[in-house]
Parts: sequence; structure tokens; C-alpha cells
Amino acid sequence: MMRAAGRTRPTIEVIAPGIRFVQTSLVNWTVLSGDGTLTLIDAGYPSDLARVSRVLDDVGGELTTVLVTHGHSDHIGAIRGLLAEWPDAAVMASADELPNVTREVTYQVGVGDLLPSLWRPSVLAWTARAIAAGGLADVGVPDPRPIEPGRERRFSGHRVVPLPTPGHTPGHLMFWLPDHGVLISGDGIVTGHPTSREHGPHVLAPMFNHDDARAHASMAEVLDELPVAVMLPGHGPSLRLG
Ligand SMILES: [Zn+2]
Repeated sequence: MMRAAGRTRPTIEVIAPGIRFVQTSLVNWTVLSGDGTLTLIDAGYPSDLARVSRVLDDVGGELTTVLVTHGHSDHIGAIRGLLAEWPDAAVMASADELPNVTREVTYQVGVGDLLPSLWRPSVLAWTARAIAAGGLADVGVPDPRPIEPGRERRFSGHRVVPLPTPGHTPGHLMFWLPDHGVLISGDGIVTGHPTSREHGPHVLAPMFNHDDARAHASMAEVLDELPVAVMLPGHGPSLRLG
């Protein structure tokens, strides 16, 4: 029997000290901790707010930063709720993605894009669950800040490099943690999705991508250039490559 979104417990995996990968059946997020602060990378659906908050409370520390791979409702959905609890937390995304994060524009699959595929039971079931989880809710985040692509920064004691990886959305970022060979790949590279039987690193189906060819090129560039030991995708399980 299908369980309602938000009821199931997420799986929490400690990837390295201070790096936790949180996986649900619909979407994943990552928590960095260190220096007494917390950095959240992506934030699930609106219905994930309680689960995101619980993980942050369990790890302990002050949420100072939310890094956004891209502005889709299953990645920024809980941010407004989190800001009510942590009003000083900075939300950061690439400059090219900011209009999608504030929802001035929406580069996201809509019901109309899905219509040709709704005859497939997996797509129909996923669509119903995504809508139940708040996939069509207004999730715009006020005042996100741009983060400079390619420039290493330190968040919660971890070195983090934002990698411009357009395709899934125009301003999609992956986040590279060189000290542990960890690639937080967002929806630029996934390892599974409820609508697909594909496993291993891959790009989402074309209907989900703003520019499908660019998405494939971004994936190839990143995997060619970086010694990835562990991939933490937006959808599907973590993957050890090293
Ligand atoms: Zn997405």
C-alpha cells in the first residue's frame, strides 16, 4: 500500500564526519555540521518541513545557511518554514537560478508536460504523490543570495565548491566537497527516480529538464573532471564510486 508523503521516516546516512545524507522515497537532502553551525543543502517538499527540522534538531547547532542546487518545489519546499524558525539563515543559489528560487519564473515540469506520460502507472502514481507533498504549492523564497560558481567557500567547517551544471534548470549547481570526494549532485545526476527503472548515475528523463542536451553535457563534464568517491543525488540512493 502506498503511504502518504510525509509519514515515512527518512533514511539518514553518515557519509563522513559532519556530512549526513537524508533520503526519502521522493527526494533527498544533505546536512553539513561543524563549528556549531548547520548547513542544509536542499530542503525537500513543503510536506518535508517537520522531517527536515527534526534532522536538524537531532544533529544540533544553528542553521546558518541553506544551499540550493535548484529552485524546484521538491528541493526548496521547506525553506520558508525553516526561515520562520531560523530567520537569520542565508539561502544561497547561483545567480542564474535566483528567479526560479523566488518563483518570478518557474522552470519546472508542470501537469501539462506530464500529460503525454500519465498513461504510465509509475508517472501517474508519482504525480499524485508529488502533488500531495506540496509540489504545486507556492514555495518562493524571499531574498535568496547569489553564490559565486567555482569559488571554494567554507560552510559549517567543510570546504565546498559550487559547480555550475546547467541543464536540468538554467542555474543548477552541484556542490563538491573536495576533502571527502563527495559530490552533492542535485538533479544534475540522479541514481533513481520513482518514474524510472534506471539505476546508477544518470540524467532525469527529458520531460524534467529545461535543456536536456546541456544536462547530459554537464554530467559528463563533472564526472570527467572530478575524482568523485561518493555521489549524493537529489533522487535515488547514495553511490560510492571510489
Ligand atoms: Zn528538479
